[in-house]
Amino acid sequence: MTGSPARDLVSVIRLEEERFTDSDVRNFPELRGFAQKYALDYVGDFEYLREARLNMQTHGSLSVQQARGVLNCAKRDFKWMARLADLVMAITNSLLRQARVASNNMQAMQQLPPSVLVKADFKNRWLYSTHERAFLVHIIDTSKSWGRWYRATNEIKFSPITWCQGRFHPLVKYPSFRISDDDTEVFTQNSQHQTRVLCEVCKERWNISQLPENRN
Ligand SMILES: [Zn+2]
Repeated sequence: MTGSPARDLVSVIRLEEERFTDSDVRNFPELRGFAQKYALDYVGDFEYLREARLNMQTHGSLSVQQARGVLNCAKRDFKWMARLADLVMAITNSLLRQARVASNNMQAMQQLPPSVLVKADFKNRWLYSTHERAFLVHIIDTSKSWGRWYRATNEIKFSPITWCQGRFHPLVKYPSFRISDDDTEVFTQNSQHQTRVLCEVCKERWNISQLPENRN
């Protein structure tokens, strides 16, 4: 088997909480470090971040709550989101390795955090509904899609955002969405014998994102 350990653990779901929480910051000091660097570097005029920068300049650190708030800003900042995603991906992979080792050992498992915001190392994955009449295949915007790992089930709940329109709410209407990177699985026929096709909007926006000037 190749690929990420996350691969088999992902379920598609709209997360209620896909933001960093205080416990994410408490459990992973590297997240707090990132927030502090981000705050120090901030040059814009958003009051919250200016205050955080001032805190860094005067006290040299951020509180857990403040670091959490700063991370949720950095997550949406085009200049920093890729770096933050890389950091969280590294945390994710190490956590999943630990969870795998600990999975037969209750005590070791209890030492892992109950949940944490994660980033799976998907490349460009397809998302489609398995509803019988659905025939569009969408491209997941991996830079904007986050998940949360849960210790109780050792599973990642993943909140996919596609290039065409944003968030899917699979739980609301269609319980069955699938994510795959296997073309031969995706571009076949649905149960009504329609051939699945790529969503035009996703395709166009994804193509634009791949132009040299838009790559980070
Ligand atoms: Zn689409």
